[in-house]
Amino acid sequence: MNKQQQLDGLKQAILDTDICPDLRAQATQLVMGDGNLDADIVFIGEAPGKNEDIQGLPFVGAAGKFLNEMLASANMKREDVYITNIVKYRPPNNRDPLPDEKKAFWPYLLKQLQIIDPKIVVTLGRHSMEYFLPGMFISQIHGEPKRIQFGDHKIIIVPLYHPAAALYNGSLRQTLIDDFCRMPEIIEQISQ
Ligand code: URA
Repeated sequence: MNKQQQLDGLKQAILDTDICPDLRAQATQLVMGDGNLDADIVFIGEAPGKNEDIQGLPFVGAAGKFLNEMLASANMKREDVYITNIVKYRPPNNRDPLPDEKKAFWPYLLKQLQIIDPKIVVTLGRHSMEYFLPGMFISQIHGEPKRIQFGDHKIIIVPLYHPAAALYNGSLRQTLIDDFCRMPEIIEQISQ
């Protein structure tokens, strides 16, 4: 089975198992992810918003536009990376995902990462960071690559602030842009 077939199977498993039926009932669709299935870098946000729910693609609204700009400024193209969320249905009124919702989707996110098999996972915001780096604070470790054991191999996690949080907050915005601009350096170091 190729990666697309495996991801399609994973999507079907989420539907068949009826993960988070309350969220599912209120959402338009399941938003699995988008991008290059052979990407070295996977970005993980929190959950789809209104535009993502309608289009069935992650990060296509205002936060997505900002993410695209930062990718471009770090010389990365959206087609070269893969983007997904920890929770794959839109929470009503864009509320934060609940702990139980993150917990329910976590094993599927891990399988998704095993299929894509990236070198680096960039978490966007604390909701996706907390499962990879429990007990850590984003304000203290943002932009710092952390090596963790993932299945039977090691993976690098780079925790970043969430683009939606940084969009309208001047200092956070600059911090996120600065962290993003260091990504090529981190990728270079890892590839050596
Ligand atoms: N915010 C997220 O965390 N994910 C999206 O897909 C869009 C906005």
